[in-house]
Amino acid sequence: MTSSLKGLIELLKQLPGIGEKSAQRLAFFIMESKRDYALALSQAIQNIKKVIRECKICCNLTQEEICEICKDTKRTQDLICVVSSPQDLMAIERTNSYKGTYHVLHGTIAPLEGIGPERLRIPQLLKRVQKGKIKEIIISTNPNMEGDATALYLLEVLKPLNVEVSRIASGVPHGANIEYIDQITLEKAIEARKKMQ
Ligand SMILES: [Zn+2]
Repeated sequence: MTSSLKGLIELLKQLPGIGEKSAQRLAFFIMESKRDYALALSQAIQNIKKVIRECKICCNLTQEEICEICKDTKRTQDLICVVSSPQDLMAIERTNSYKGTYHVLHGTIAPLEGIGPERLRIPQLLKRVQKGKIKEIIISTNPNMEGDATALYLLEVLKPLNVEVSRIASGVPHGANIEYIDQITLEKAIEARKKMQ
């Protein structure tokens, strides 16, 4: 195998979820693809590092100083949904039902991996709340150990700022069968029950 092909395989292997075999398959695919495609792919990768940055307000990824969502005056500006990643933001946007703004933390607190709150975009969030125009914060980190730890930490630091803090409900997924739900999920679902009306 030529050294340039080996080099490409090594780079592809560093992508999440890509092992040796997948990396080889991708490298051969790129090698055998049309020249235009390979060039466009490499250009897109270069552009993403040059052009994309974090929104000055919500830390979402954007090409402008302020992202589309923060600029949108039709959205409820006094409501912030806190998410761990831009991917989580995109997932909530796909529901088409949330009309507030966001704040992207770019991670979760994970003591076992040595990730403390100082690594997250928390000061930027506090700064937004300190301006006094925010009514409610919905913490939408994952319902697992790291996500819960992050939510609890945020609740602590937001408490003195006089803002309503809520946490997204976790529980039984829509369309699921109760019989097959794990014990913790079921427990949380009962805890987070909602009055029928
Ligand atoms: Zn923004």
